[in-house]
Amino acid sequence: MSNPQLTALLSVSDKTGILELARELAALKIRLVSTGGTAKLLAEAGLPVTEMAELTGFPEMLDGRVKTLHPRVHGGLLARRDVPEHMAALKEHGIGTIDLLVVNLYPFEATVAKPGCTLEEAIENIDIGGPAMVRSAAKNWKDVAVLTDASQYAGVIEELKRNGTTSADTRFKLAVAAFNRIADYDGAISDYLSSLQADGTRSLFPGQSNGRFVKVQDLRYGENPHQQAAFYRDLYPAPGSLVTARQLQGKELSYNNIADADAAWECVKSFETPACVIVKHANPCGVALGADAAEAYAKAFKTDPTSAFGGIIAFNRAVDGAAAQLVAKQFVEVLIAPGFSDEARAIFAAKANLRLLEIALPPGGPTAWDQGRNLMDAKRVGSGLLLQTADNREVRLDELKVVTKKQPSPEQLADLLFAWRVAKYVKSNAIVFCGGGMTLGVGAGQMSRIDSARIASIKAGNAGLTLQGSAVASDAFFPFRDGLDVVCDAGATCVIQPGGSVRDDEVIAAADERGIAMVLTGVRHFRH
Ligand code: 5GP
Repeated sequence: MSNPQLTALLSVSDKTGILELARELAALKIRLVSTGGTAKLLAEAGLPVTEMAELTGFPEMLDGRVKTLHPRVHGGLLARRDVPEHMAALKEHGIGTIDLLVVNLYPFEATVAKPGCTLEEAIENIDIGGPAMVRSAAKNWKDVAVLTDASQYAGVIEELKRNGTTSADTRFKLAVAAFNRIADYDGAISDYLSSLQADGTRSLFPGQSNGRFVKVQDLRYGENPHQQAAFYRDLYPAPGSLVTARQLQGKELSYNNIADADAAWECVKSFETPACVIVKHANPCGVALGADAAEAYAKAFKTDPTSAFGGIIAFNRAVDGAAAQLVAKQFVEVLIAPGFSDEARAIFAAKANLRLLEIALPPGGPTAWDQGRNLMDAKRVGSGLLLQTADNREVRLDELKVVTKKQPSPEQLADLLFAWRVAKYVKSNAIVFCGGGMTLGVGAGQMSRIDSARIASIKAGNAGLTLQGSAVASDAFFPFRDGLDVVCDAGATCVIQPGGSVRDDEVIAAADERGIAMVLTGVRHFRH
């Protein structure tokens, strides 16, 4: 059955499965040609193999940089068997066809993933001849089968045994896989080199993956059951980001779980002191600071116990037994923290479905790590992609501008800054009432700011919380005084907002008229 004229070229760095494959090929009377290391392995196993140097008439040279870059190789791979001139040229120059190519590349990705990898090591692990051969073979898929992964060996052998040749369909699929592999490989090289800093060291987090993502897992479905979905991460994830999480227990994460977990984690890790964030449908429905995790949770839960049901809860401190006992009283989908005590683990173990995620906080404090880095934020629009740098702008106390006659007290300033930080993580239009280091009412995602203000105050009332003397944050300016009047009517005595409206004067005059303090940040936090 098998064609005695077929030639296979084998050149692999990862030798997994190569001997078994070569044995099968030899048994099918396929001629084997190999580069140095691979040829040695085959010869030692007693297989008949032609050395590359014998085929090309040139020794492998320059420390292996040039092994297969030769017309005897690329002519044999690229010649179209259906074009007489091509075949005549091969004959004229004594070049034989190569019908099967088995190549895997120098381990560039694994090399640069090793701690302490030098630029020189990385460069030496950039394969040149391998990708060139893979591209030649894949381009000529009509006549050549190209195998770039050990997982493909068994299927091809089976087909060769059955039919003496591979089908066009198989060769096309192999070619597509080959070009994908080359694109990934080149992407990894480009990402690595882009991550190097001027002094030759690598930035802790390059912050830009040139669009290179690695699949973490397929998901059961997307936002809705009829949508397919998968989860990808940056090639070089930011330290402390959700994708670095370790799942300790519980059901598989869903698409919505991951989206909400990210919202909760991003918000909670922005606080320096112990904090808890409860998220539902991408919005915080309770955020609080406390002396410890348990107190922060108890306060956050009070904001909106109804919405907290089935929520995603994140802590920026390890969850101890006391906090676990409190949390275990409610239905939670996902719980995220930098750590869990043994007691907490034991309490949660009784809730087999509860997903526990452990994530190390980023080094250097809550915001130090991402400042000045080009973290990119992406959003699909039809067939387009909107890219922007992430909103990692923190407002400092000395940037705040008091614009009212009334000055905020130090306690009010603390609550205003807390409210401002929370508002950044609430979908626009965001109105957030706070007091005593906790949210009292959150109005999210309304098309009018005044409705967000009304909803926030209704929700506070539903939760039995008073807004008298509260601080309130608005993620963008008040376009008219009406929104301000709503928050004052609800009981707010100080306001933080960006300012910048053409009617700022009207709004400031209204604040003075109502006898409240107002500070402007000069920064807006739209979130859509
Ligand atoms: P071996 O272990 O057989 O000596 O080398 C196999 C590796 O060499 C494979 O990863 C293959 O992609 C790579 N390779 C084959 N030809 C060339 C070449 O001409 N230049 C370089 N740099 N690598 C090659």
